Amino acid sequence: MSLRRKITLLPVVILSIFTFIVIAMVALSFRELGIESAKDKSKLTAEFVRDSLTAHMVNGIMDKRGYFLEKITNSQNVKDLWLVRSKSVEEQFGKSTILNEGAKDGIDLDVLKSGVAFNILDESSQSVTLRVTIPYIASSEGLPNCLECHNAKDGEVLGAISMVFDVSDVRESGLHTIVKIILISIALLLVALLISNILMKPYMILYEGLIGSIHAIKEGDYSKKVKTKLKDEAGEVAVWLNSLNEMLKDTVDDIDKKISILLNYSEKVYNKNPLIRTKEIIWELADIYKFKKTIEVLDEREKMYESLYFLVKNRFDLEEFALVEIDSKNNTKELLFPKESEFWLYIDIESKRLDDAKVLFVDEDENRALLVCNNEQKFIDIKYHVSQNFTLLLSILVKDHIVLQKIKDHIPLIFNYLDALKPVAQNNIYTEMLKESSLRDSLTGLYNRKFLDEYIESVTSISLRSKTVYGILMVDIDYFKAVNDTYGHDVGDVVINSLAKSLKECTRESDLSIRFGGEEFVVLLYNPDVEVINDIAEKIRIHFSKKKFSAGRDEISKTISIGIALFPQDASTIWKGIKFADIALYKAKESGRDRVVRFKKQMIGDAMV
Ligand code: GH3
Ligand code: MG
Ligand code: MG
Repeated sequence: MSLRRKITLLPVVILSIFTFIVIAMVALSFRELGIESAKDKSKLTAEFVRDSLTAHMVNGIMDKRGYFLEKITNSQNVKDLWLVRSKSVEEQFGKSTILNEGAKDGIDLDVLKSGVAFNILDESSQSVTLRVTIPYIASSEGLPNCLECHNAKDGEVLGAISMVFDVSDVRESGLHTIVKIILISIALLLVALLISNILMKPYMILYEGLIGSIHAIKEGDYSKKVKTKLKDEAGEVAVWLNSLNEMLKDTVDDIDKKISILLNYSEKVYNKNPLIRTKEIIWELADIYKFKKTIEVLDEREKMYESLYFLVKNRFDLEEFALVEIDSKNNTKELLFPKESEFWLYIDIESKRLDDAKVLFVDEDENRALLVCNNEQKFIDIKYHVSQNFTLLLSILVKDHIVLQKIKDHIPLIFNYLDALKPVAQNNIYTEMLKESSLRDSLTGLYNRKFLDEYIESVTSISLRSKTVYGILMVDIDYFKAVNDTYGHDVGDVVINSLAKSLKECTRESDLSIRFGGEEFVVLLYNPDVEVINDIAEKIRIHFSKKKFSAGRDEISKTISIGIALFPQDASTIWKGIKFADIALYKAKESGRDRVVRFKKQMIGDAMV
């Protein structure tokens, strides 16, 4: 029930209760009054009858008492009246011959026996009657003395008089009074209602305005003003609330503006209430800051991307997605995460049975594809440029419209985390590039000797454990000095570069070509068939020897010599293997150049000589 209704109903309820009490009291008073007046009347009638009967007796006209009693009976409100003789009177004077004066009921008998007056009220819907029975008690006192005529003792019950009075008129007048009271109360009530309505109305309007405004504040709407004409304390409350609302609105608008500079966000993700939204956004900013701090201490790109992967998984509750790094300079794509996934599907890439559009990532080395979706599903790609050459690709499988909506809502947020990641990623990329460039030869783009030092350090023990075989080729251009001397260094550089290309073209991705120094190269063949190593070396030799270089007006071609050793068959370390390949190369040079020589143990002795 509304307060307004409660306040309006309060005087009605109070007045109603008051009216009810008054009516009850009036009704009771009328009842009591009716009974008491009937009782008094009965007493008087009893005394009057007794005295009259005595007078009748004294005058010897007792036989006329019937007329007298009839007159009394006919008098107002007496419905019935009869006399009752006691046994002693009956014995003395005999039973009444003209009137039936015996006991009519138990009440008469009781009163005769006890000598105590009795009265009872009989109420029905039609009428109210009072039955009164009063005993006549013999007394020697007073005039005339009862005992003079009656053979009775002092205090003996001589008879009784029973009367039935109609007291309905008392009830009727009581009812009239009650109706009047009710009418007066209703009139009073209406007046009270009118007055309370007039007085309370502005307060009620204010109250409703306050409630509306407070509800709106709770929902984040600070624009609802409270209007009132009241100038008292209640009116001041409205003014305070309005100014508080204004202050809140300005502050929240300000915070919103500032936050939108700091953070991309779609309103759908956050609470509609600006205050709660602000809190949520600040939490988000704190989380982004924490994420940034966490990845800043990770010096490896791999670990940094791992943090991002798990963040997307946990914070945005996404399951089926992959994180890919695109190197636009080298036109390569590297799947960063997931490394291990239940969504890998092993396929036969050669037969191209899979529709590429439905595959998130194809790992050709392993003959497998990641995340294959059906016709109703698709992938959403979020691309983020980390640096000039590197782009991060977040490919998310959209299973259903719920995931689609979630992705759409969260994209601005994901970009916040990517923004936080960007400088750290750039730093890592540049550090790696710097490191990479120090490990590469600028002329050929091949790895240099420094790389070989680091690589061999980390690879030897792993290779021994995994029983990896390396075929080691030591390659050197024959009579290269002559090229420099005859045609100049530039031509020499072209020849060196061309040999590097031959090495790349004649070997696999998994093999490594390294510029060892000057025009000397080391090629590490990864897990080759031992029987075909010679063939590979021959292939390189022939490939290069067929090349023609323009040198001034001349066109020249060059040959190379190659020494071969095997790790771990020939040497216990790769370094030793390189050394043995060099010994074999020496043998190749010695035996006429433009050939491939396989290392043999006895060559060590020859080299020493
Ligand atoms: P051999 O058949 O015995 O190998 O005879 P060679 O003339 O090739 O002798 P060697 O292998 O010792 O020659 C190495 C020369 O390579 C010496 C140096 O001037 C030249 N050289 C080293 N680095 C470079 C380079 O970057 N560019 C050019 N143009 N020449 C280089
Ligand atoms: Mg040489
Ligand atoms: Mg050399």
